[in-house]
Amino acid sequence: MDAANLSPSQAESTPARRIGVVGSGTMGSGIAHVFARSGFAVTLCDVAQPQLDRARQSIAANLAREVRKSKLTEAAAAAALERICFTTDRAGLARVELAVEAATERFELKRQIFVELDALLPEGAILATNTSSISITRLAAATQRPQQVIGMHFFNPVPVMALVEIIRGLQTSAETYATVEALARALDKTPIEVNDAPGFVSNRVLMPLINEAAFAVMEGVATAEAVDAVFQLGMAHPMGPLTLADFIGLDVCVDILRVLQEGHGDPKFRPCPLLVRMVSAGWLGRKTGRGFYTYPDSPRPDQAR
Ligand code: NAD
Repeated sequence: MDAANLSPSQAESTPARRIGVVGSGTMGSGIAHVFARSGFAVTLCDVAQPQLDRARQSIAANLAREVRKSKLTEAAAAAALERICFTTDRAGLARVELAVEAATERFELKRQIFVELDALLPEGAILATNTSSISITRLAAATQRPQQVIGMHFFNPVPVMALVEIIRGLQTSAETYATVEALARALDKTPIEVNDAPGFVSNRVLMPLINEAAFAVMEGVATAEAVDAVFQLGMAHPMGPLTLADFIGLDVCVDILRVLQEGHGDPKFRPCPLLVRMVSAGWLGRKTGRGFYTYPDSPRPDQAR
């Protein structure tokens, strides 16, 4: 189902299914965008009002881009934006059938959000997390509904990337998995099933590549441009690992590497000191205008794709 294919009267007459998204940064705003585009009513929550204002701007800009590319009609784009409620008040989540948590990649923060959502959401509602690396099984154990907890890992930029990595925790029920898989398909995404292990598949394999690329720069083996060119021209990657790291956010990369290091108990995942220093300096990549490269025109161009 795609909102572009719904006539305005169809969209109005069918009661929208309700989805909650917690965290309105790079990923939360993209997740809200794709659910709203596919006809779901979305409550997008954040603790920070300025972040919600940025999320509204970036979703509007990204929908407008889809209109320009003839992927969406103007009416469908306007209707999608209308379907999103931007709020700092979690009470709006009390009627959703699914909440996708997309807050900062810290276990304790996510655990607390899960405890609160568990108390707030209707019985039977699913609690999903967009975490890149944190254990679904541990988050599930913090709730009274562990069988309804699951990983729903979208990729950046969410409106563009086809994959949703769906991660079963040890306790996740077959019914929860089936519902989330169907939801991913309703968004026109391709779900891939994986089991719970630190970093799942995507980041367990990707982050060591990014980390090693950063070590190569730190040790003076090559410039960032040269490292990226090796992967673009030699391995046909659409973008090099350091461009990708800037796009993901260097803080997110370091957080994920720490989860991998702790979760696997293996020092091979230790974050490169150059990455750690850049994060300390506030050079987080595209979202702050500087990372391995500089992005002078937009402080958060990752949200304006
Ligand atoms: P981000 O820093 O852009 O956004 C995080 C948002 O969470 C911020 O707006 C912050 O205000 C909000 N937040 C923090 N505490 C909160 C709380 N208690 N309640 C509600 N909101 C809260 O981060 P992001 O890049 O969007 O990453 C979000 C999640 O998605 C992380 O778990 C990350 O690992 C994962 N992820 C990121 C990418 C990526 O490419 N950036 C890709 C896949 C998954």
